[in-house]
Amino acid sequence: MNTTSELVALTAGVKAFVGQPHEALIDGRWQPARSGKTFEIYDPSSEDVIAHAADCGKEDVNLAVSAARKAFDTGPWSRMTPSERGKILWRIGDLIEANLEEFAQLEALDNGKPIAVARAADVPLAAEMFRYMAGWATKIEGNTIPLSVPYTPDAQYHAFTRKEPIGVVAQIIPWNFPLLMAAWKLAPVLATGCTVVLKPAEETPLSALRLARVCMEAGLPPGVLNVVTGFGESCGAPLAAHPGVDKVAFTGSTEVGRLIVKAAAHDLKKVTLELGGKSPNIVLDDADVEAAIQGAASAIFFNHGQCCCAGSRLFVQEKIYDQVAEGVTRFAASLRLGPGLSPGTQMGPLVSQTQFERVNGFLTSAREQGAKVATGNASSRTFKGGFFVEPTVIENTNDSMRVYQEEIFGPVVTVSRFKDVDDELIRRANDTVYGLAAGIWTRDISRAHRIGNRLRTGTVWVNCYNIFDASLPFGGYKQSGWGREMGHEVLRNYLETKSVCMSI
Ligand code: NAP
Ligand code: MG
Repeated sequence: MNTTSELVALTAGVKAFVGQPHEALIDGRWQPARSGKTFEIYDPSSEDVIAHAADCGKEDVNLAVSAARKAFDTGPWSRMTPSERGKILWRIGDLIEANLEEFAQLEALDNGKPIAVARAADVPLAAEMFRYMAGWATKIEGNTIPLSVPYTPDAQYHAFTRKEPIGVVAQIIPWNFPLLMAAWKLAPVLATGCTVVLKPAEETPLSALRLARVCMEAGLPPGVLNVVTGFGESCGAPLAAHPGVDKVAFTGSTEVGRLIVKAAAHDLKKVTLELGGKSPNIVLDDADVEAAIQGAASAIFFNHGQCCCAGSRLFVQEKIYDQVAEGVTRFAASLRLGPGLSPGTQMGPLVSQTQFERVNGFLTSAREQGAKVATGNASSRTFKGGFFVEPTVIENTNDSMRVYQEEIFGPVVTVSRFKDVDDELIRRANDTVYGLAAGIWTRDISRAHRIGNRLRTGTVWVNCYNIFDASLPFGGYKQSGWGREMGHEVLRNYLETKSVCMSI
């Protein structure tokens, strides 16, 4: 394994931003937690404490929800035209782009992802998300509906539907793409005219707080976006259960997704969930083998495997199994690990000590259960500290092993051999509680369609993987979630339909 350690110099803006107190945004004002408590923010590449953020609890959540309610019911936001809302969203996109380097550095510092990736993917995708949704603000339309009411044969009606914002929305997001997950959530919610309380992950709150500043600078009125930083149990849970919240949109683990549903159950809040996955990535024996090797490796090692749609179960058809397994293992060993802020880094550290221990626990279980575990060469590491885990390829698994069944959320792929497509492959690919994404590598377009149609997943990538666009819906079948992110489909998450019937 290669390593790299030279770091990019932080911009003056990043230094100033990181160094300031990180407070909650409530009703347009930055304020400390009512308790006065803060929590530490770490650089996962070095384990150093880089900042402190407000440790918000129930009282802060109450204030944030009240501010969002006031802004929804009476604020200038509710009187703005869709076009004015769209312009603000577009400006947010422009400001993200104008501050691209600053956002990329914050992501690399706080999350550990390679700065090159943040510059090329996370930040531009976040900007595009706001621009795409800016266009939708003026296109949220109902229908006119011809009626045929049997018991009023002589009457005439004018009936139509209105799409109205659902109200106050709680959004709870994870740490794997801190800025992008905030953008995926905020852009559509703002396009619809809702107001929001956002809780970023406690591991990575910095870019969401910087984004909130950008939103205010773009002209978002006070109270429309409120940000509370803090922990899941003390901040996320009271937010998800708050009686003043009309809807909860959550991205994170399936386990916490269940808690969100329970918290929302007592007053039947609407809920959408984007949860975990154990996505099958399938290489057929007619595939372009080199492309499939690169694609299979990137599908799992991108973002250090901390992707809900990571291609974590690789299935390779018998004839080319050895070639592909060997190729992916070679790719893994060649990856340059290093701090997120190092320009040459291809894979950074995991986000936290917890995640580091979790992933290593899976590797221990694989070894104990008799799998063949191949990693890079740990002894060549030169950096000190940091939650680094080697990219790892696991062979000789069986379908009941934990590493094969459970979401690892780290740079760890199982490689399995298959013979028959129609029965064996489809059954094994679908044999999971999850249904987020899948990949198929083949030169035969008919095979790609026929297999893709039978996979119970929200996304199917053919001869590519991890391709995201603001216009393309993303979400899960089965326990991978409820509802979709992105595309115009996401707008449904934040709209109510009102049917209006007028006798004329
Ligand atoms: P998580 O606990 O599900 O965290 C996601 C968000 O939910 C965070 O903001 C978290 O706050 C908050 N949260 C936690 N408990 C809550 C509760 N009871 N009520 C309301 N909000 C709550 O995920 P994680 O701990 O960061 O990671 C654990 C595992 O989840 C990973 O190993 C991975 O398998 C999976 N995961 C999936 C995704 C995805 O995109 N689908 C993303 C991240 C993680 P805190 O910041 O305090 O945790
Ligand atoms: Mg957590």
